[in-house]
This record gives sequence, C-alpha cells and structure tokens, in this order.
Amino acid sequence: MSTQSMIPFHKVVIIGAGISGLTAAVYLQRSGFQTLVLEKTGGPGGVSTSWKQKGFTFEGGVHWLIGAKKEIPLHQVWKETGALQENNPVYFKDPIYTLVDGDGTMPLFRDLHGLETKGLRDRIALWSLRFHLACFKHFHQPISDMRGLKIRHPKPFSIGEYAKMLPAALITPFLMIRSARGYAKRFKNKRIRALLAAVVEPDINALSLIYTLGTFQVGDSGYPKGGSLRMAQNMAETFLSLGGEIRYQTMVEEVLPDENGWAVRAKGEVLKADAVVISADARTAIDKLFREPLQDGWAQKMRKGLRTTQCMFLGVGVNADLSAWPRSMQIVLPRPLKAAGRTYETVVVNNYVNEEGYAPEGCSVITCLLHGPTYAYWRAAKDDGSYQAKKKAVMDGFLEIMGDMIPEIKDAVAVTDVATPLTYERYCSTFEGSYMTDWPPLSRLYHAPVRYRKGLYFTGQRTAYSGGLPPAAQSGRTTAQAVCKDFDAEFVGH
Ligand SMILES: Cc1cc2nc3c(=O)[nH]c(=O)nc-3n(C[C@H](O)[C@H](O)[C@H](O)COP(=O)(O)OP(=O)(O)OC[C@H]3O[C@@H](n4cnc5c(N)ncnc54)[C@H](O)[C@@H]3O)c2cc1C
Repeated sequence: MSTQSMIPFHKVVIIGAGISGLTAAVYLQRSGFQTLVLEKTGGPGGVSTSWKQKGFTFEGGVHWLIGAKKEIPLHQVWKETGALQENNPVYFKDPIYTLVDGDGTMPLFRDLHGLETKGLRDRIALWSLRFHLACFKHFHQPISDMRGLKIRHPKPFSIGEYAKMLPAALITPFLMIRSARGYAKRFKNKRIRALLAAVVEPDINALSLIYTLGTFQVGDSGYPKGGSLRMAQNMAETFLSLGGEIRYQTMVEEVLPDENGWAVRAKGEVLKADAVVISADARTAIDKLFREPLQDGWAQKMRKGLRTTQCMFLGVGVNADLSAWPRSMQIVLPRPLKAAGRTYETVVVNNYVNEEGYAPEGCSVITCLLHGPTYAYWRAAKDDGSYQAKKKAVMDGFLEIMGDMIPEIKDAVAVTDVATPLTYERYCSTFEGSYMTDWPPLSRLYHAPVRYRKGLYFTGQRTAYSGGLPPAAQSGRTTAQAVCKDFDAEFVGH
C-alpha cells in the first residue's frame, strides 16, 4: 500500500464516519490527501452499528453484507478499505430464513429446495422465481472508475462482465414496477409468501428482493464475524494506520465558503480545508448544514419527493439458551402485534445465540426490525411526553407474543432496548430517522450530486442507488475519485 503521492499537500474534511465517509476517507488518505473525519457520535459506523448492554450485544446494523464473494468487484472495495479482514470472516446462513408458525417450521434454503408448491399457480410462481434468480446469477454492482481520472490501479472495464449481466437488465423493468410484497403474492401458499416477505423491507421494489436473494444464492451475502462494529472499527483503524485523523463527538454545525476553499464550523472552531465531503444524510444537510438552505433544483426535488425508509429496532437479552431456534426466523404471529399505530402479522426475529461473545454463557440475544413509517407517531409522542411509555408498550406487546411463540423467553428477559426513527435521527441526523434510501415501485430516486462545486462534495446513501452498505461504499469511492480529479491527484486504490 502506498500513501505517497506527487500531488501538493491538500487537506480534506469529511463530515461523518459512517461507511460512506470512512470509505472516502481511506481512499483519499491513501491518495495523498491529509484527511480529517469529524463525527458527531462517539464511534465509527454511523447507522451501521452494534452496541453492548449488560453484557449483551445488540446488532443494530448489518444483517447481511453483500460483496462477500472474492470474485465480485465490491469485495475488492471491502478489502481495500479494510472492512473485511481476517478478524471478520463472513458466515453464510442456510437456510436464509425459517418460517415459524402454528404448523411448525419451513426453511427457505439458498437453492430454494423443499418449498411446498402443490397447485399449478405455485408451481408457475416457483418456476418464475427460479428463472428470475438464474437471470441474476451473474449480476453484481459494477465498480467503475471516473473518466479522465489519473488512477494507479484501474478497475478494468470488461464487456464480458457486463454481457453476463444482460439477462438481469432485461427483467429489471418487470421487477421495478412491483413491490417485494406484491412479488411474494404471486404464490398462493401463504407460508412461501411470508418467507419471501422476510427477505427485504416488503414495500420496496421487487428488484431488491430478487437481487438480494440472488446474492444469498451465489454466496455473496453473509454476516461478518463481529458484525457492524468490528467492520466499522476495521475501516477506522485502516484509515488511522494510513495517517488520517478522526475526531469523535464532533458535530459539524456549518459548512461555509472560504477564500481558498471551504471550511466547517464545529465546536466553535472554524476548520479550513481545500475540500469538504458531506457524508451526513444529504436530505438533512441541505436544510441544516448551510447558512441558507440549498435551493438548487435537485435539492428542491429532494425536499418534495423523497420518501424515507424507517424502522423500529427491538433488542432483547435473554437468560436462556435459544440454540434450539433458527438463526433468522420469520414468525407468523398468533395474534397481530400493534406497535406505533401499525399492525404486524409477521415479524422477522434474528437469534444471535451462535455469535461468539454476543451474550453471557448460556444466554442469548434476539433482535427484530419493525418496518414502516412511524416517524410522525414518535415525534408526536415526544412532543406530548408519552415517548418512553410508548416505547415500553411496543416492547411489552412484542415480549408478550414472543413468550407464546418461544417459551424459553418467558420470565427470562435480562435486558431490552428499543430504537425508533427518532433514535436514528438523534444519533446520526438522518432525515426522519431513515436508514437507507427508499425505492418504492414505479418511483425515482432523489439524488444529491457527488460534486456540488469544486471543493464541496456529497457522498453516502443519497448520492447512490438504494440498498444499504454497498451503495454507501461505492459512493464513498466515487466521491474520493471526484476529489482526486478536481485536484489533479492520482487515485490510489490499494
Ligand atoms: C437496523 C438497520 C439494519 C440494516 N441492515 C442492513 C443490512 O443488512 N445490509 C445493508 O447493506 N445495509 C443495512 N442497513 C443500512 C446501512 O447500514 C446504511 O444504509 C449505511 O450504513 C448508510 O451509510 P452512510 O455512510 O450513507 O450513512 P450514515 O451511516 O448515516 O453515516 C453518516 C454519518 O455522519 C454522521 N453525521 C451526521 N451529521 C453530522 C454532523 N453534522 N457532524 C458530524 N457528523 C455527522 C452520522 O453520525 C453518521 O456517522 C441497515 C441499517 C439499519 C439501521
């Protein structure tokens, strides 16, 4: 790895040590920029994080990481940024999910074997699912280089690589006009429907469902040992080892022009830089990070059209051994769970019993994400003082039903935690507590430009396609390239 560069000395400030900010930071530091990351929270990772409570680890970020397969270009990015190292090998779960209902269990294996398809409708639906997955067998997110950039290790453009992805491109329009939930409804069998609805947030488009299932199938998706936190720490340590600097607990209050470039104001200090990269949620930044809210056309459209992906996170530490239960369960509830004004008939529960060090000996941790737009509900609760009581009510309702489904949990709860969209908003300043870019069927994405002006850049979830960690990393790399290009620097990948 080289940190040497022939460029004159340039200083970059990156706002945010989430996955996109750290990705940009590693590449810029390696390309010879003196890079400073300012992060409002106490550690790296942004919304991709996990935390400990009373000896139990709650995984509040990565559930699966795409880019685990060595042959996939994204894997190189995870390697180059230090996200994946020897200390966090990826575990591939199979079954991907297991349905748990009144009739017992039904696994969703990576190769789909064993799915019960009795009638003609289900046989056709299964055939078509297999066909769609076959089309996506060679699909992966291309990692490309910016045109006209000086680059030491270019990612070669291969027509063959793109040709193999043509079948996926051809069926993409069909998948983009329906939701994941709508796609699952092609099956008559309710259990298969429920299993498919577990894979991604059910209201985003079916492209995400097929793409994600496809990555599981080819062994490109898995859980890195140590989860979100180890992955983010690996990236932060890689950046520091290259000579970069991170200041935690440092909230940037303002981005402002400076006679020689740009500057940021944080903790009452004005820090000058040749370039500033905003990895904080761009939807928040356009209103909050400048003296006057940005009024560019793209910012106006974003304000008007952007829909956010929200969830409630429930974590439970249990003084019981749950190793008899599957790793990832789609549980069909015996009675609906009412939470934050919404009704849930099924819940996905992750069981971390086999994850080393996540719970004391003989104990276990389970987590659950309840998807859906509940920001307004929680905001109102905060305003009328009922926020804590309502959070408790959600957890109580969950535990009551879970106790009936998983008897070991009853009377064995050691610790609980609930995060709402307000938690994510407070913690990472994401707009309405959103945790990734939403992409419902028949809708467009509302992007911020990677290069806003020379010396001022955006990166992260609002500059890329929808999908969590991969676009965060990809956008971090693209933004680093944009900075290199503007300052006539050679981009050094590894
Ligand atoms: C519960 C949950 C489950 C998920 N599961 C998966 C999954 O299984 N697979 C997957 O691929 N993705 C998953 N995601 C999504 C993925 O984690 C995110 O999309 C991704 O991490 C976003 O990265 P980012 O860098 O764009 O944004 P962020 O993580 O929001 O990073 C922005 C950073 O900027 C900081 N910041 C904001 N404002 C300021 C300021 N003014 N000054 C200083 N710092 C500031 C924030 O604190 C934050 O650290 C999940 C997310 C959540 C919450």
